[in-house]
Amino acid sequence: MVNKFNFNSMLIVISSPSGAGKTSLAKAIVKENKNIYFSTSVTTRPPRDGEENGREYIFTNKNKFDEMIKNGEFIEYAEVFGNYYGTPKGKTEEFLINGKDIIFDVDWQGGTKIRNSYLSPSVVSIFILPPSIKTLQERLLNRNKDDDKTVNLRMKEARSEISHWSEYDYILVNDNFEKVKKNIIKIIEIEKIKRNRQNLLPDFISKLNTEFDDFISNT
Ligand code: 5GP
Repeated sequence: MVNKFNFNSMLIVISSPSGAGKTSLAKAIVKENKNIYFSTSVTTRPPRDGEENGREYIFTNKNKFDEMIKNGEFIEYAEVFGNYYGTPKGKTEEFLINGKDIIFDVDWQGGTKIRNSYLSPSVVSIFILPPSIKTLQERLLNRNKDDDKTVNLRMKEARSEISHWSEYDYILVNDNFEKVKKNIIKIIEIEKIKRNRQNLLPDFISKLNTEFDDFISNT
């Protein structure tokens, strides 16, 4: 099963508390890098103003979501803030087979499940921290996406989300959007040249050895 995938590809898992900027960062990176794709999750949460089915999320109801669970259509799914969110398996595998990189904007539960899944060799995980709790609250209030009650709930959840920071490979503090975006790209570039992601390395080494043999037989 695992062998059909191209492990030169990366599953870049980005988590953070709501309001720390992970979705904007993920979207900006995908927009500027044509080989990186965004994994569009399925959710039972109703669309917010301006959200479109198939763009931010695939919006569905709980019955259909349960059906997808039963059919094994998710790599992972979790309940977050009373709604269900899931990462579709089919699309992810298609990207992987084609050697594409994929960004996953998921909560810590999704992060753990993807890291421990059959896709683990491809996973790089990044946690985004807010520069301060005040900034986090301001961002949640200013984005006008949620009412005050939801903002307060998200502040409470933020503490528990942040408590999972040490489970991630890289930790970035979002004190400057452009800087953090550049750092994520740097992480992707460095991870690409890790030994286990260079699929063609064994062939290259055998070519060097053949050249050594030729060299020795000619001296
Ligand atoms: P929001 O409703 O604000 O778009 O997202 C709420 C939370 O759900 C965010 O932390 C987001 O990263 C997370 N989330 C979005 N999609 C998924 C998914 O497919 N799986 C998991 N586990 N979390 C997700």
